[in-house]
Amino acid sequence: MQKNQILLKFTFGICFLISCLFLSAQPLHHTNQNLPCVNKNYNLLAHVAVDSSGRTPIYSTDELDSMIVKLNDFFSPICVSFTLCEFNIMENDYSLGRVVSEPITKEDQLLELKTRFALRRRINIFFLDYIISEDCGLSNFEGILTTNDAIIYTETDCRDDIAEQVAHHLGHTFGLLNTHDPETIELVDGSNCTTTGDLICDTPADPFGQGISNATAEEQELIAQGLLVTRFSSQDCEFIYEIKDPNGEYYQPDMGNIMSAYPCKCGFTKGQYRLMAETILKSNIRHF
Ligand SMILES: [Zn+2]
Repeated sequence: MQKNQILLKFTFGICFLISCLFLSAQPLHHTNQNLPCVNKNYNLLAHVAVDSSGRTPIYSTDELDSMIVKLNDFFSPICVSFTLCEFNIMENDYSLGRVVSEPITKEDQLLELKTRFALRRRINIFFLDYIISEDCGLSNFEGILTTNDAIIYTETDCRDDIAEQVAHHLGHTFGLLNTHDPETIELVDGSNCTTTGDLICDTPADPFGQGISNATAEEQELIAQGLLVTRFSSQDCEFIYEIKDPNGEYYQPDMGNIMSAYPCKCGFTKGQYRLMAETILKSNIRHF
């Protein structure tokens, strides 16, 4: 291992530890105690867009290698690892990396990328520049259970770094939902955790994306006077939202949870690892 790789690993290790210690009300897990070890290595196929000026790939192989190091760290508690097996540059066509709704729809453009470049029974990741009306890419829920839908599209237009963005979408691919679900209201005391939010009980209630219409009349009044904070997080990943849940309790989501929408991603919970392991064991996507 070269010196700079050691340094990178070391620096990352420290950041990882510090950010998780500060961001997690609940413990995010980094050991494999009491977790199933599925022992799988997935060969990722990377399809990388080129930039508009130099027609060079928007990520280098070195950058994607560093991404793999971080991914392997995130998924090691259930003995899942990744290898970059193909680095396919989508050459000479910058428009492939910018998914807008003209001249064909976003869905058709994404489908075209998949049909042209993706291999079945593999995890394919498209590294794109921009996808219209998406926030940090997209992927298919339980994609690993299908033969040709283990597809992840990322975009550079995202506050997460590329490893965090891909880890989030691998979470969806392996059967996880976002920690927040604006359609349901999960209570802070956890009493409805099996039917709301992400349906996982060791991820605390996360109100991200909920409208202020859920606030009480008293809270609405304070919001109108500018006395309650309705933003969810500060620049430095502090949770600042002041609307309480229907029981009058303050939310305390895991800002560091990889399946959250906060740009502070650093780990999964045990419940999330268990569900991913279960989904992976049900799949027959090729692995080595
Ligand atoms: Zn998501």
